[in-house]
Amino acid sequence: MKRRDFLFTTVLTPVFAKKLLANETDVYLSNEEWKNLVSLNLRLKRLRRFVGYANFNIISYTSALYYARNYSKIGDFTKNELLLMDKLFHENPNKYGFFGIKTCMHIENEVLSKDVSKIPYTGHYLFKGQPESDYKNLLSDVGPTLVLTSGVRNVIKQLSLYINKIYYLHGNVTEASNSIAPPAYSYHTISDFDVGIKGWGYKNFTADFATTDEFYKMRTLDYISMRYDENNNDGVRFEPWHVEVL
Ligand SMILES: [Zn+2]
Repeated sequence: MKRRDFLFTTVLTPVFAKKLLANETDVYLSNEEWKNLVSLNLRLKRLRRFVGYANFNIISYTSALYYARNYSKIGDFTKNELLLMDKLFHENPNKYGFFGIKTCMHIENEVLSKDVSKIPYTGHYLFKGQPESDYKNLLSDVGPTLVLTSGVRNVIKQLSLYINKIYYLHGNVTEASNSIAPPAYSYHTISDFDVGIKGWGYKNFTADFATTDEFYKMRTLDYISMRYDENNNDGVRFEPWHVEVL
């Protein structure tokens, strides 16, 4: 039997199995936290289904708790799930190798509907003002093949992405925070957005995006920048699709 198969068939939790295979310095959830993360991930997916994909991007933590408490289709957050969300929002992510700046101070941050525009056919929002005008200019400068793939994300949305990533990485928070900013550290909460090519799906979030004509055109524009280039100081992977609003 291969070492990998041996570990996954004999060790009880994926957290433990993965721990033995990955980088020794990576930080993992405890087994208790892992259990809470699994149930929290499912609850957040039920919440997303309930409020709708687009709305899920902007709902506040307070609204999420309200919906969960009042609708049995979602079910109230457990005390441990609340503690885990609180920890993931408030802890210092430096220990995971993430060094970006904090963009959101309060877990109860509100995104007001008067401050955002819903972008048709995308399921996403952009902040009015600079982000929205940058996006409009991008579409006219780069062309109609470009599309918004992620815009405004309030705390619950960023938490859900982060939690889902930790889940797929078997509890490895170090690796997760390399590809999804921790919930208080996303520029999506204050300005930035992601673009991709229509019809490209998941490939838009790979380095392949950097090989496209659309990307080359974007690099010539002076009103936007690339937030996470190769070897950025934040400890975030190369994200050619992530537009920095200046
Ligand atoms: Zn992004």
